[in-house]
Amino acid sequence: MKAAVVRAFGEPLVMEDRPDPEPGPGQVRVRVEASGLCHTDIHAAHGDWPVKPSPPFVPGHEGVGLVEQLGDGVTHLAVGQRVAVPWLGKACGRCEHCLSGWETLCEQQINTGYGCDGGYAEKMLAWADFAQPVPDGVSAIDAAPLTCAGVTTYRALKVAGVRPAQLVAISGVGGLGHLAVQYAKIAGATVAAIDVTDEKLELATALGADLVIDARKDDVGEVLKRHGGAHAAIALAVNEGAFAAVNSGLRRGGKLVMVALPAHGSIQVPIFDTVLNGTSVIGSIVGTRQDLAEVFQLHAAGHTKVISETRPLASVNESIDEVLRGEVKARIVFDLLGAGR
Ligand SMILES: [Zn+2]
Ligand SMILES: [Zn+2]
Repeated sequence: MKAAVVRAFGEPLVMEDRPDPEPGPGQVRVRVEASGLCHTDIHAAHGDWPVKPSPPFVPGHEGVGLVEQLGDGVTHLAVGQRVAVPWLGKACGRCEHCLSGWETLCEQQINTGYGCDGGYAEKMLAWADFAQPVPDGVSAIDAAPLTCAGVTTYRALKVAGVRPAQLVAISGVGGLGHLAVQYAKIAGATVAAIDVTDEKLELATALGADLVIDARKDDVGEVLKRHGGAHAAIALAVNEGAFAAVNSGLRRGGKLVMVALPAHGSIQVPIFDTVLNGTSVIGSIVGTRQDLAEVFQLHAAGHTKVISETRPLASVNESIDEVLRGEVKARIVFDLLGAGR
């Protein structure tokens, strides 16, 4: 089987022929149909973050495909069934976090495409308990971006406790943001979308944003304050300045939810304003299996639209460059079977 492999940080990925991986107990082998390109994969390939993967490894945590072989003890999945293999490849299931609905914080977790090989390959392994069944009516090409971009923003809005009639700021309308806008609308919020290209602001409007803010020329904090301030701001743009800008646009009691991960990023949180205004700064990382099940359910019911462009896996390096140049409207999905939607 073919796989796109990171052999050294910062080097182009190498297409390799590898033997099909053998599922161990509790695992399944998946014939990958589609695999999304998340910015995290680029950070992984560059070794950008303090905790690094160990090359050689196969990135990718938006792999979707058909179960091809069951490992020992797997009884709840069937050969031929479509599953998604998210970032949360495995968690311990026993710790405080796992037992309290926060398996995303498990310290024993193994992350797909980071701590084990991921979805930039024709075949991959998954722990069966964490391979999420994809409902009928959801294509592999749509399921791929939902598997990280979807679940991550859906969870972030839950973390923010968004309620109807609230003003929610979505900072960054890309792979994550275009879904965040839709989840915020589903939650009944008024949505302010923030970006720096006309194309992305137009996309946000088309997806239901009530207000768009062009951060190239508008003072984001000031515009949000003019509308009463945001009850919640979801920071998705990989840019430190964008975090500080939305933080300044919160209303009293508002919440800044940090999701994007600029390498070595930090922001200044003004103590006086934070205390007086009772605002919160919260981190949110991906989502649980239940969150992903709900994301798929919403999509199967026709409530969300996934914007993506498909590419062959062999174009992985050019595709990464496109993302880094900011040229991709929402999400690149590698179409491994050439089957399209
Ligand atoms: Zn991701
Ligand atoms: Zn755990």
